[in-house]
Amino acid sequence: MAAHQEKKLSEERNRKSTQNDTRTSQVQWGRAWEVDWFSLASILFLLMFAPLIVYYFIMSCDQYQCSLIDPLFDLLTGNKHLSDIWNKTPTLTYRAAGIYTLWVAFQVVLYVFIPDFCHKFLPGYVGGVQEGAVTPAGVVNKYEINGLQAWIITHVLWFANAYYFHCFSPTIIFDNWIPLLWCANILGYAVSTFAMIKGYFFPTNAEDCKFTGNFFYDYMMGIEFNPRIGKWFDFKLFFNGRPGIVAWTLINLSYAAKQQELYGQVTNSMILVNVLQGIYVLDFFWNEAWYLKTIDICHDHFGWYLGWGDCVWLPYLYTLQGLYLVYHPVQLGTANAIGILMLGLIGYYIFRTTNHQKDLFRRTNGNCKIWGKKPEYIECSYMSGDGTKYHSKLMTSGFWGWARHFNYTGDLMGSLAYCLTCGFDHILPYFYIVYMTILLTHRCIRDEHRCFSKYGKDWKRYTAAVPYRLIPGIF
Ligand code: NDP
Repeated sequence: MAAHQEKKLSEERNRKSTQNDTRTSQVQWGRAWEVDWFSLASILFLLMFAPLIVYYFIMSCDQYQCSLIDPLFDLLTGNKHLSDIWNKTPTLTYRAAGIYTLWVAFQVVLYVFIPDFCHKFLPGYVGGVQEGAVTPAGVVNKYEINGLQAWIITHVLWFANAYYFHCFSPTIIFDNWIPLLWCANILGYAVSTFAMIKGYFFPTNAEDCKFTGNFFYDYMMGIEFNPRIGKWFDFKLFFNGRPGIVAWTLINLSYAAKQQELYGQVTNSMILVNVLQGIYVLDFFWNEAWYLKTIDICHDHFGWYLGWGDCVWLPYLYTLQGLYLVYHPVQLGTANAIGILMLGLIGYYIFRTTNHQKDLFRRTNGNCKIWGKKPEYIECSYMSGDGTKYHSKLMTSGFWGWARHFNYTGDLMGSLAYCLTCGFDHILPYFYIVYMTILLTHRCIRDEHRCFSKYGKDWKRYTAAVPYRLIPGIF
C-alpha cells in the first residue's frame, strides 16, 4: 500500500515537473520575456530615429534631388537652419487625409467583407479560409486569404479611374507623397498604441500575450500575438499585407507616370523597378497562405515594429528606387539592363524555390520530392504552453541543405538588383540593400536563437548538418 502511494506521489511529482518544464519551454520559444540592455537601446534608438530617418530620405529627394549629403552639409555650414528645411516641407492637407482615409477604408472593406473567389478559378492558388501555425499557447487561428483578389481589384480600379474615367491623375501618389507621409504616421502610431492598450485591457487571446514589464519594449515588439477585432479582422495579416504591400506597386506606377509627365518617356530602369518589385509583390499575394507560416505571422507579436513599420517604413523606404528615378531618370545600356534583370530573376528564383521547398516539405510532412528525391531531414520535437508535445522536421536537402536561410540570400540578390537600376551617382537608392542585409542577418540570428530555444539539442544536430547561414562556405 505504502509502495503504491509512493509510486502515485512520484508520478504526480513527475507530472508537475513536466508541466514546469513545459512552461519554461513556452516561456522561451516565443518572443523574449526579458529585455537586455542592447535590445532596449536599439528599441529606444528606433522609436526616436526611425520616423526621422524616413522623413530625412523623403525630404532629401523633395528638396535636394535625393542627395543625402547636401542637407547635412547645408546644416553644418550654417547655409540653412532646421527651420528652413521644415518650413519648406509640405504639411498635412485635407486632400491627403481624404485620399488616405479612403485608401485604408477601401482595403479594410476588401479584406473583411469580400470572401476570396480567386481560388475558385485560379489553378494552384491557395485562398479562402486557411489555418495559421500553432501559437506558443497552442491556438490555431483561421485566416481569410483574399490578398490576391484585393490586389487585383485595387489595380483594376486604379487603371480604370486614372486612365479611363480620369477621376484622378496617375501621379496622385507622387504629388501628395509628403502629406501622405503624415497620414501614414498617424495611422502607424494610432494602431500601435491601440494594440498596446488592447493587449492590457481586452486581448484576443490572453495566453498568447507577453509582458516584459518594460513599456518601450512592449510598445515596440507588441504584447498580443494575434490581436483581432471580431472573428476575421487580424491586425498582423491586414497591416503586413495591406495597405502597405498593395500600395507598393501603385506607388511605383505613380512614379513611372511622373517620369512620363516630366520627361515624356519612362526609362528602362523605371520599367525594371516596376517589373522586379511587381513580381515580388505578386508573389507575396499569390503565396499569402504560405505567408501565414513565416516569422512575421508565426512568431512576431503585433506592436510598433509591425504596426508603424508596415504603415510608414515599408511603403516609403521600399520604394526609394522609383522615387529616385523620378528625380534622376537613368537610361541603362542594354547589357546592364539585361544583367540587372537576370540578377533580379535569379534572386527571385532562389527566394521562391527555397520558400516553396520548405512549404511543400512541411505541408506533406516530408512525403514529397525535392529536386527529384525524397527529402532528407532531422526529426525534432517541442512543447507548447498547454503541455502538448509536438513533433516537427527540419529539412537538410534541397536549398535547405546549402544554407540555413538560402531564401534570404535570394531575397538579397533581388534587392541588390533593384538598387543597381539607379546607377552609382547617389547612395540613397542603395539604402534598401544595406537595410535588407541588416534586417535579414539580424532575423537569421533572432530566428536561430528562437529555434534553439524551441528544439534544443535537435536544433544543434541540424546546425551541425547544415553549418552555414546565408552563403555556403562563407557565412
Ligand atoms: P523562413 O521562411 O526561413 O522561416 C523560418 C522558420 O522556418 C523557422 O523559424 C522554423 O520554424 C522553420 N525552419 C527553419 N529551418 C527549417 C528547415 N530546415 N526545414 C523546415 N523548416 C525550417 O523565414 P521568414 O519567415 O523570416 O522569411 C520568409 C521569407 O520572407 C524569406 O524568403 C524572406 O527573405 C522574406 N522576408 C522579406 C522581408 C522583406 O521585408 N522584404 C522581411 C522578412 C522576410 P518552425 O518553428 O516552424 O520550425
